[in-house]
Amino acid sequence: MKIVDTHAHIGTSRNTGVTITEDALINAMRKNSVSAALVMPQPVGYEESCLVHKKIYELSKKFPKMIYGISCVDPWVEEDSFMGETIRCIEEYGFKALKINCHGHNISPLSVLCEKIYKTAFKYRLPIVVHTGLGTPVSLPSLVMKPATDYPEVIFILAHAGFALYCDEAIVAASLCKNIILEPSWCQTFMVSRMIKTIGIDRVIMGSDHLTNLPMEILKYHCIDLTDEDRKAVFDTNPGRIFQLDA
Ligand SMILES: [Zn+2]
Repeated sequence: MKIVDTHAHIGTSRNTGVTITEDALINAMRKNSVSAALVMPQPVGYEESCLVHKKIYELSKKFPKMIYGISCVDPWVEEDSFMGETIRCIEEYGFKALKINCHGHNISPLSVLCEKIYKTAFKYRLPIVVHTGLGTPVSLPSLVMKPATDYPEVIFILAHAGFALYCDEAIVAASLCKNIILEPSWCQTFMVSRMIKTIGIDRVIMGSDHLTNLPMEILKYHCIDLTDEDRKAVFDTNPGRIFQLDA
């Protein structure tokens, strides 16, 4: 069965100090039979995010259909710089989504600074990955309901789906906004099960966040009551559709 990891990083995290190299990413994917990954920078400064985007692009050229990019630029940087790099990621690098790291960049989804991200996603028909869970109040899943309501054509992916503590809130947000998708890395198995039962199998995707999480995040979907067809949806069909991986 094809497995897509929808939440991977390269670079060094300011939060954890963990560094993930391109080789480590490819090795972990091969070891865990992951056929494709959506890769983004950690929440870093502007220059470093540009550098990491370029590395992701080069990796995607080296491993086509295996590596896809997600752009993540600090929304606090000056608008021309932000938009210049974001458009480069979309038009030149062919990245598949935009990321808002509420925790890492200390930004609320309600901030006027995020409007440019919503408008860009709408214009290019790209989904937005929003970090949720750790780092409240800006990372509360319910905050995403406002842009999800304002931009009903844009798909919003709640990364970490509330990060265990706020899973129920993520489920409420996704229940009320049909354009919200849940990616439950770090969440309890019974909560993943509750997500699927409440919002349906078509709006849940697998993400690892850290390479060493990969075996466990995959295993979660074998520990809960799912059919092979359900697992195919979470691992392959849903990410393929949501991130337009074949486009
Ligand atoms: Zn992450």
